[in-house]
Amino acid sequence: MQTVWVFGDQLNRRIGALADADPATHRILLVESTAKLVSRRWHRQRAHFVLASMRRFANELRDAGFEVDVRRAATLRAGFDAHVAAHDPDEVIVTEPASWDGLEVLRALDVTVVRSNQFLCHYDEFAGWAGDRKQLKMEDFYRWQRRRLGYLMEPDGEPTGGRWNFDDENRQPPPKGNANPWAPPQRSELDDLDREVLADLDALGVDTWGADPDGTWATSRRAALSRLRHFVDHVLPQFGPHEDAMVERSWHLAHSVLSPYMNIGLLLVGEVCDAVQEAYERGDVPINSAEGFIRQVIGWREYVWGTYWLWMPDYRSRNALGADRALPPVLRGDADTDMNCVANCMATLHDHAYNHHIQRLMVLGNLTMLHGVDPWEVTEWMWSSFIDGAEWVMLPNVIGMSQWADGGMMATKPYAAGGNYIDKMSDYCAGCRYDRKARVGDDACPFTTLYWDFLSRHHDRFVKNPRIARQVRAAEQLGDLLAVRERATTVRVLLDDGKL
Ligand code: SF4
Repeated sequence: MQTVWVFGDQLNRRIGALADADPATHRILLVESTAKLVSRRWHRQRAHFVLASMRRFANELRDAGFEVDVRRAATLRAGFDAHVAAHDPDEVIVTEPASWDGLEVLRALDVTVVRSNQFLCHYDEFAGWAGDRKQLKMEDFYRWQRRRLGYLMEPDGEPTGGRWNFDDENRQPPPKGNANPWAPPQRSELDDLDREVLADLDALGVDTWGADPDGTWATSRRAALSRLRHFVDHVLPQFGPHEDAMVERSWHLAHSVLSPYMNIGLLLVGEVCDAVQEAYERGDVPINSAEGFIRQVIGWREYVWGTYWLWMPDYRSRNALGADRALPPVLRGDADTDMNCVANCMATLHDHAYNHHIQRLMVLGNLTMLHGVDPWEVTEWMWSSFIDGAEWVMLPNVIGMSQWADGGMMATKPYAAGGNYIDKMSDYCAGCRYDRKARVGDDACPFTTLYWDFLSRHHDRFVKNPRIARQVRAAEQLGDLLAVRERATTVRVLLDDGKL
């Protein structure tokens, strides 16, 4: 018998080595690594999501006739060794893992590693695309992907709808008033397997935070497919216009909330994009919504995957801005805050292990960059706190996009913003005790104070960057710059003390 060793983010019969597995000739190994579980402070829903999905997948494979060995072991390596000692397989076959460290583990073992098909662009294809380009522009990669994969393309090679990009239609501020037109996500009932997983997390002493699972996140292929249908039928038509908006009254708006399933294999990227393409062809979805979603998946998501492999392992130690502060207690859920935007994002994170991309980038990530938090600490925190976290997702998104710690390899300017941007794209500021326009004084918006301070602190680095030079020069000319710098020092201390 051969063994197919399946990692916890490869939970699909059509991924890599499993695609050719047969119950008559293949046994399946899944390892629950306690070292991984206790390695960081996971959001409770994230830890449950992965473990419950692994165990359900093991049950599905058993139902399909496979012998499945689920090993709980100190490490992946220890689980592998125990399996080999118990079963003496003729060969152990593994699909390429999604992490650099996972690949390092496999290189030291007697296993056959087969190519992963979990992404539409394998990282060696991405490296081929990157070639010797000076700047790896996501837009260029996205168009290359569209052309070669054929999503939203016309027979003459032109993009459907006559444009590659519908961002202008998709960056609208929140709708006025209390309109809440966004369909709520589906939920499943928790069952005995879910309760067993939660009990095991406690018994193992896994340090978790956040609310218990409430059934929002599917943990089986069947339920994930149902989430996909729900998204395409009820949510996707509204996906585009308010993609970047943030409102107190809805934690999900028209976001797909499908990323966790694609990231652990419960859904395949191709089937998700096919469903969106078909909905567009049926006339059920406007082009800006279809294009906006396809862009996120075959553009941004695959670009992040490719850059992770291209730039690892050095990339994770990048810290171009020399940021060295600790994550403030409010972001660990250990302190309350009067910053209404942060309080809202943290409440959503606590309750759902989720924030959408603008909340991550322009509220939480913006705050950590302006404050000067160590970028690896931010990466680890987002990785362990979000339902869709993984090193390959978080490293480029945090080190590159959000914290500008790579010095511009990914983003040509830092995504720094004061209260004005947050006010434009959300309804948070109206209910906040801070004044988004004020830079100094006890009521000054911390984002606004820290934003001007950031531009001033990093003047020399950014004053020649055409995308941000104007703001840097404006900071230089502020009449109250000294007072801003002083207030920023106070804000930092208050943030560190959990008193802002
Ligand atoms: Fe956030 Fe400042 Fe707006 Fe308050 S005023 S919600 S702290 S951006």
